[in-house]
Amino acid sequence: MSAEYPMFALSEEHQAVREAVRDLCDAKVAPYAADVDEQARYPQEAADALLAADFHAPHVPEAYGGAGADALATVIVIEEVARACASSSLIPAVNKLGSLPVQLSGSEELKKHYLGKLAAGEGGFSYCLSEPDAGSDAAGMKTRAVRDGDTYVLNGVKRWITNAGVSEYYTVMAVTDPEKRSRGISAFVVEKSDEGVSFGAPEKKLGIKGSPTREVYLDNVRIPADRMIGAEGTGFETAMKTLDHTRVTIAAQAVGIAQGALDYALGYAQERKQFGKPISDFQGLQFLLADMGMKVEAARQMTYAAAGKSERGDKDLTFFGAAAKCFASDVAMEVTTNAVQVLGGYGFTRDYPVERMMRDAKITQIYEGTNQVQRIVMARQLLAGVQSHL
Ligand SMILES: Cc1cc2nc3c(=O)[nH]c(=O)nc-3n(C[C@H](O)[C@H](O)[C@H](O)COP(=O)(O)OP(=O)(O)OC[C@H]3O[C@@H](n4cnc5c(N)ncnc54)[C@H](O)[C@@H]3O)c2cc1C
Repeated sequence: MSAEYPMFALSEEHQAVREAVRDLCDAKVAPYAADVDEQARYPQEAADALLAADFHAPHVPEAYGGAGADALATVIVIEEVARACASSSLIPAVNKLGSLPVQLSGSEELKKHYLGKLAAGEGGFSYCLSEPDAGSDAAGMKTRAVRDGDTYVLNGVKRWITNAGVSEYYTVMAVTDPEKRSRGISAFVVEKSDEGVSFGAPEKKLGIKGSPTREVYLDNVRIPADRMIGAEGTGFETAMKTLDHTRVTIAAQAVGIAQGALDYALGYAQERKQFGKPISDFQGLQFLLADMGMKVEAARQMTYAAAGKSERGDKDLTFFGAAAKCFASDVAMEVTTNAVQVLGGYGFTRDYPVERMMRDAKITQIYEGTNQVQRIVMARQLLAGVQSHL
């Protein structure tokens, strides 16, 4: 696919991706979304459907057996899945998050082996940066990796790990030199089957209840030294570079959730009658719907522009990734809350999907760096003069 991104219209190829994912989600993802949330269970139907259609990890390059979707096509896949079921959208999103460090910085052997397995559906990938005492301050992590001959031995606790226990593969950031803070952190691929790897109980969450979030325990996990991703001491840099790209996918998730809520609210407003006419006839509600549509579209355009930056590796990707994630997630929170308002009392019940969407939207303001952290990132880029439209 072309790396050129018209700002206001999708290419035919990208539009075809959207239509294919929309059809798949209407048939095989949306029907289970309420039950997945209600039972807080893994969206197995969506996982099977996405794998069968090669949308489970669309970003993996063709050279490693993947679908070879560019950043925009990957964003469209995630957006469309999130429109139907936010929990399910974490499957393609976190497969990209977990494996991108390997793709960006790994040896050719690591890429062939792990990206190949991911593309073939032989195991998903998780990303292990956060710890109980190291969230926004991720460089304050304590997990250690100590070299012993041609192996490393890992010890520590990673917290909030999406798809932990389901994924076969884990990109783990660990301290190799405690004196050097962020420059003393290295990245490794750990496998679920490695001796000493275990998982905590699933977190009981407000939203994205179908997406498993668990702690990952590393208890004297001995792995071959060639499972290090890039050179020793470069793990934190790789982790941050990864987030520059994947924040765009969280923006897409937010856009999808918001679009799902808007679509539902539009349909409802035209059917629900009060004062003898559809509530969509009332200008007070029309203005609310108009603002929702305007903001979703602004968030989408910003997300697609950021996807273009991601695909080309532009120098202002850091700004755009943070800005798109921050803006789109704030829009998702506002639009889903307003969708509940459009449905009145019915919107407040679990008989309708919009309250689920509102709960799901909240996480997009928190993970891959809170929106406070995104603003720190943006301000740094602005003050350094990196973001410029000239
Ligand atoms: C459902 C879920 C899934 C997740 N998945 C993953 C995953 O797969 N892999 C992974 O590694 N992590 C994951 N995370 C972790 C997530 O990225 C962190 O929760 C997030 O970065 C915030 O860290 P924290 O929760 O420790 O909050 P804290 O860092 O303790 O922040 C608490 C509050 O303080 C604010 N704050 C902190 N520092 C500053 C500052 N300097 N200036 C202004 N405000 C500040 C924050 O914005 C926030 O409002 C997940 C989290 C959740 C809830």
